[in-house]
Amino acid sequence: MLNRIDLRGTPVGDLGVRQLAELLPRAELDVEAAMAAVRPVCEDVRDRGADAVREHTARFDGVDLTTTVVPVEALADALAGLDPQVATALDEAARRARLVHEAQVPGQSVTYVADGSSVTERYVPVARAGVYVPGGLVAYPSSVVMNVIPAQVAGVGQIAVASPPQASSGGLPHPTVLAACELLGITEVHAAGGAQAIAMLGYGTTDCGPVDTITGPGNVYVAAAKRLLRGVVSTDAEAGPTEVAIIADGSADATFVAADLIAQAEHDPLAACLLITTALGLADRVDAEVITQLATTRHASRVKEALTGQSACVLVDDMDAALAVADAWAPEHLEIQAAEAGDLAGRVRNAGAVFVGPYAPVSLGDYLAGSNHVLPTGGTARHSGGLSVLTFMRGIHVVNCTEEALAAVAPQIDALGGAEDLAAHVRAVRVRVGETAGTRADGEAGRGVSGATPAPPLRHDLVGRAPYGAPQIDAPVRLNTNENPFGPSAALAREISQAAAAEAAALNRYPDRDALGLRSDLAAYLGHGLQVREIWAANGSNEVIQQLLQAFGGPGRSALGFEPSYSMHPIIAQTTGTRWISGLREADFGIDQARAVAAVAEFRPDLVFLTSPNNPTGAAVPLSVIEQVCATAPGMVVVDEAYAEFARDQQATALSLLPRFLRLVVVRTMSKAFALAGARVGYLAADPGVVDALQIVRLPYHLSTVTQAVARAALARSAELLATVDGIRAERDELTRWLRERGLSVADSDANFVLFGTFSDRRAVWQALADHGVLIREVGPPGWLRVTIGTPLEMAAFRAAIEAVLS
Ligand code: PMP
Repeated sequence: MLNRIDLRGTPVGDLGVRQLAELLPRAELDVEAAMAAVRPVCEDVRDRGADAVREHTARFDGVDLTTTVVPVEALADALAGLDPQVATALDEAARRARLVHEAQVPGQSVTYVADGSSVTERYVPVARAGVYVPGGLVAYPSSVVMNVIPAQVAGVGQIAVASPPQASSGGLPHPTVLAACELLGITEVHAAGGAQAIAMLGYGTTDCGPVDTITGPGNVYVAAAKRLLRGVVSTDAEAGPTEVAIIADGSADATFVAADLIAQAEHDPLAACLLITTALGLADRVDAEVITQLATTRHASRVKEALTGQSACVLVDDMDAALAVADAWAPEHLEIQAAEAGDLAGRVRNAGAVFVGPYAPVSLGDYLAGSNHVLPTGGTARHSGGLSVLTFMRGIHVVNCTEEALAAVAPQIDALGGAEDLAAHVRAVRVRVGETAGTRADGEAGRGVSGATPAPPLRHDLVGRAPYGAPQIDAPVRLNTNENPFGPSAALAREISQAAAAEAAALNRYPDRDALGLRSDLAAYLGHGLQVREIWAANGSNEVIQQLLQAFGGPGRSALGFEPSYSMHPIIAQTTGTRWISGLREADFGIDQARAVAAVAEFRPDLVFLTSPNNPTGAAVPLSVIEQVCATAPGMVVVDEAYAEFARDQQATALSLLPRFLRLVVVRTMSKAFALAGARVGYLAADPGVVDALQIVRLPYHLSTVTQAVARAALARSAELLATVDGIRAERDELTRWLRERGLSVADSDANFVLFGTFSDRRAVWQALADHGVLIREVGPPGWLRVTIGTPLEMAAFRAAIEAVLS
């Protein structure tokens, strides 16, 4: 039945695209030739609009329509008349397709290419899309589902469907198409077909506004019109005759294989079907089965034409050869009915969709797999994929850069602008950041960097990044890193040093790798019934966060935070290869519960970071928000409570939520309230499963014997250390009042710092304060500055400096 192509004995290396191009059959679609016929129609519609559409519709479809607009009542009527079983099936097809396509929606990602320089990638749907649905003798309501669902999921604002009018349906498109539109909530349908419909969608008429993207199958004239309009609109891939390749070994069921070949051939006498097999016996059995099944198939003549025309059975030596042939042919559909089909599927490089094993036939994909059935044909699967939400979206790069970051990269722009002789490019940068020695605005600079030491082969995504951290400047009053301004008392300092000294004689030994003593002290300090196996400690909460991202983030995973917030969250995310998704806080720096939950539901990040109290804005996140985020998040929720002890409401800690949420992690530190920043001790409380996971990524002996001893000595005197907290809080609230009295804005703070502003030139204010010997932090949203609460003396100095600077 099928022609045989015997490639046995051919080395796999000779089974490439070029070698097999002449050998493997496939019907050609001469779109180029059809363009000549279609061009005048499209130009006519462009020039004369609705009148032209009407005339061409009368000519090609034999109906005269005063408008292309299908009344909405006709849609409702069509659905009412649809076989309820078909309606239910379409509903289920739509549900499955929606699920699959929702997973395709790309998240927004922010990449920091260097300190102060980032690129945000936003995917934005087109405003208006046109979906073409062919009419003809049979109508395909499944095509409506496959085109409309991705557009809807992408968030396209308006979707217009066009389908040819039928004289037999009173000048309306096929009722099944209308019913499918109604089912999916489409309200704009046009009775127009062929090239004139494509031109109508692309150029717009008085009946139909122009669209941005056109998708949908059609005959060669529709394909030609889409090719002609490319540039005016974007389109999906050109649809040629449908095709399937089936890779099968001796274990395949010939009945299944034959049924699938016939099913594909049923579409079109030009359909191409390839059986690629290692088993001569199977080839014979399939031939016999095809003949048997043909006897009872409905569209036998076109099936026969397709299977004896551009179809074949290809005999190969082994599965490597079978995959090579399939890749060379790059089929629209590829079925694998062979042992270890799953593994083979993972090795396929060129195919529109792959159907794995005996129970995933193409017919499932045509209707109900949830996958899209609009797939690349004619070998275009070598470079294109099927229809998806991305067909209806575009990525927009949003570029942010600070003055310092631009200055840092200016020499490279000098070099490239110079090399391309684009001096104005160089100047556009230099007028902003000024000249530096050795650069000239005429673009001559930057050439000939020979002799420079070559940079070490840093990971690409880290190139150009600067180490993060507050500037370490010596100043009399340092209020820039949110430390506790009070060091330990002389007596406590002695105790701590004795604890460290006691370990000195045993420093030849590694420390307790599990830091059990320290963790049990921390559990006792936190209370809430926490046990040692629910506590984990590391060198500062920064290391805790790094370990969390190593264990739960990493390449292919993502983390979401609500900014502005602690900058190390995105930085550690990115250095661990985790994609960072930047959620936004509201204008008052709060997190809106509904918007936060929606962001989590939309992006489904592997980790969510909530900083509470937030650095640098100050306020705590309400427990209700944390609760809702925990209830929605598919992965870990990390609440960074570095400043918890300073909060106005001490009850509002996420520790209280731990019993209810197994994936909640509360991160704390001894660097702030405990006045132990120099010792580097951070910790977390979480389900024991989380602690177990962190053991996998932690380095052995990460917490030194000395660190553990010092932290435990401090914890033994926690009451004394924390005695400073009340005073710091009072000082903070007093400072807030004082700054507001001077007409400044101050964000409410639950931490040991306040964010205040706003200044049109905050850098100048920061510098002037530094000149007065007071070092604060230039961080947070533009115009704001952050000051850490210091000792009463330091605060007096800060206030004096502010008065001097403001006056
Ligand atoms: N989380 C937040 C919110 C912070 O502000 C800081 C330090 N400023 C840290 C974590 C890290 O602190 P450490 O590593 O000292 O524990």
